[in-house]
Amino acid sequence: MLGTMLHGPRDVRCEEMPEPAIRLPTDAIIRLSASCICGSDLWPYRGLNAVTAPLAMGHEYCGIVEEVGAAVTTIRPGQFVVGSFCLSDNTCPHCRFGFPSSCAQREFMTGAQAPLARVPLADGTLVATPGLPDDALIPGLLAASDVLGTGWYAADAARVRPGATVVVVGDGAVGLMGVLAASQMGAGRIIAMSRHKARQDLAQEFGATDIVAARGEAGVAQVRALTRGIGGDAVLECVGTAESMAQALQCARPGAMIGCVGVPHGVALDGQSLFFAQAGIMGGPAPVRRFLPHLMSLVLERRIDPGRVFDLTVPLADVAEGYRAMDERRAIKTLLRM
Ligand SMILES: [Zn+2]
Repeated sequence: MLGTMLHGPRDVRCEEMPEPAIRLPTDAIIRLSASCICGSDLWPYRGLNAVTAPLAMGHEYCGIVEEVGAAVTTIRPGQFVVGSFCLSDNTCPHCRFGFPSSCAQREFMTGAQAPLARVPLADGTLVATPGLPDDALIPGLLAASDVLGTGWYAADAARVRPGATVVVVGDGAVGLMGVLAASQMGAGRIIAMSRHKARQDLAQEFGATDIVAARGEAGVAQVRALTRGIGGDAVLECVGTAESMAQALQCARPGAMIGCVGVPHGVALDGQSLFFAQAGIMGGPAPVRRFLPHLMSLVLERRIDPGRVFDLTVPLADVAEGYRAMDERRAIKTLLRM
């Protein structure tokens, strides 16, 4: 089959590779209905994470089960399934506490930018739909696998409550999904920080009530002005840089929670600033599996349309162009057709 391999910085190829097979009795093999490129795929693509051996790319997936291992009991061939980018058993103490992304058996999904993929820990990781979903719903269900689940976690970790004033730092796909999540959770006001027209428009479509285009001190001042000097009740940090983290802390009112889902690169927090900010921080890899059943229902019932976040679709053979478009910020998120 043809699949996606990263060989080095900016060298991603669609190339011939062996089809995946069951290796452990807890595995499943799925045939992907669609796949996509994640903002986090850009870290190794840009050479910011060292690539020492070719990497099989792709960790967002949904599709039809082809085969399951002998120990898989709840998932069966022919079912349409969505799984998290974090593979988890859904039974260990961390899973039961709501943090499957810290599962005692955690692995990270790989190799999903391909027509077939191996999913370890299938029973714990995969959630099946009641029947085969309409083709139009595939992008939304695919989004639930990571980007929507991660944006949802940002809002959940920031404890967005009905009527809350929410500040979203970051207008990438995850930030936009954070806006959608905050809106679904009943936020009264959602301030999206974005400098790009297309992203501002999508943020408003997903429920943003205010847009702040400024960054740094000017951005903080605008958020303060919009909130009568108070700041946000909940802040979603969806970037992961020192600047975005500083922005999030300064936009948080005392007592606020900050949901951090941008993987930190170069972020160092000062103890005294944190102490006097009186804001809580909750973050990490999103426990998407906890939210999956709810998010899949919202998509299947057409109450949300997170698939709108895909603004570029390319066939798998053109995966390199999909990466380039996201790297150059010509695309928010690329969907790969199988
Ligand atoms: Zn677990």
